[in-house]
Amino acid sequence: MTTFETSLQWHNRAQRIIPGGVSSPVRAFQSVGGTPRYFVKGEGSKIWDVDGNEYVDLVGSWGPMIVGHAHPHVVSRVKSAMEKSSSFGAPGPGEVLLAEEIAARVPACERVRFVSSGTEAVMTAVRLARAATGRNLIVKFAGCYHGHSDSLLVQSGSGIATLGLPNSPGVTQGQTQDTIVVPFNDVEAMNRLFAERGSEIAAVITEATPANMGVVPPSPGFNKFLSDITKKNGALFILDEVMTGFRISHGGWWGKFGLEEAWTPDLFTFGKVIGGGMPLAAVGGSASVMELLAPSGSVYQAGTLSGNPVATTAGLATLELCDSELYLSLDSRAREVGSAISNALTAADVEHSFQQAGNLFSFFFTSQNVSNFDDAKKQDTSAFAVFFHSLLEQGISVPPSAFEAWFVSGALTDDDVDKIAKAASVAAQQVKLRSS
Ligand SMILES: *Cc1c(COP(=O)(O)O)cnc(C)c1O
Repeated sequence: MTTFETSLQWHNRAQRIIPGGVSSPVRAFQSVGGTPRYFVKGEGSKIWDVDGNEYVDLVGSWGPMIVGHAHPHVVSRVKSAMEKSSSFGAPGPGEVLLAEEIAARVPACERVRFVSSGTEAVMTAVRLARAATGRNLIVKFAGCYHGHSDSLLVQSGSGIATLGLPNSPGVTQGQTQDTIVVPFNDVEAMNRLFAERGSEIAAVITEATPANMGVVPPSPGFNKFLSDITKKNGALFILDEVMTGFRISHGGWWGKFGLEEAWTPDLFTFGKVIGGGMPLAAVGGSASVMELLAPSGSVYQAGTLSGNPVATTAGLATLELCDSELYLSLDSRAREVGSAISNALTAADVEHSFQQAGNLFSFFFTSQNVSNFDDAKKQDTSAFAVFFHSLLEQGISVPPSAFEAWFVSGALTDDDVDKIAKAASVAAQQVKLRSS
């Protein structure tokens, strides 16, 4: 690999004006060390940094770039939307069409409201659940990330896991006193909690599959159990599909597993893929709960750029490309890439747990299977850092943290997969050398 001198110059300049030089913490490479690359161009499966280095992209903007970068269909639709103005702050056809598309894919979403980020979608879902039940308590799982709103910034995954912050200064006890944190996949702890405080619980929120502490699939029947126990106790079940929605299948995680296992959440949150790389997210669910939102009901929620015409166009154009063929290709690419890397680690005798949930996957540098946040924290993050930097130097961009999922896109080619496999062998040997 050539130099990353220009990235370094930008990063030095950025740090003088933007805290840590970044607009979102994990991007700063704090947990892996080194200099973040400054990207200026993407096309299909590849991205280029300011020094002209080329990378195969396995981050995909953390999910949204599901059809690859600058897909001609998305670009042409967005261009023509832009030419007709980027915002009115008034209703438009784009949001109606996208809401209809979401409801067609996820029939349990009888109503959809758009916001600009996954954080906002979750905030709205929580507010709705409290209003609908007249109760205060929200139950979340350790290591699940639901955005950076105060009441959910308790034992979160993603940047919080990466930086090792148990919580965040600036969040008051008052803001988190109504949030209860339970270990993921722990049926017994949930039964105990509901036995003690069931009548106070407004909602249980979970990632459809946790993927912000690394990928930790729900044990068989766990989501159905959550759906049943909430229903029995008059609480709502919020399924956070910000990452999984329209990535795991045509109907997201629920479309693939919920229908089959006969469980349905009351509220869904979506983001990432539905904006096709633009700031867009949504909350959806049963009409009876969703109609509590103003102006139909009295639960307040609003946004200057909500349902933005360019963002909804990018989302619709992206979803038009997300057909069953794409999902088959994502599944098989995830299998190819994931097992090539796992095989390389095994060949180099590096202990790891390769974990998959649909086409999302990640690697924990530990010999143990990881089924909750405590397990995840036992991994050797310094081994990950060596692996990460070796891949990056060989032109493979993966998440700069051991606590994040890896993302394939429909644009990956056989050549890309070969390149990833070769780079993984070299990287695995470097991890081995370091530890022996
Ligand atoms: C990314 C993510 C969020 C937050 O979305 P933002 O758009 O970053 O605010 C919430 N929940 C889950 C499961 C996510 O993966």
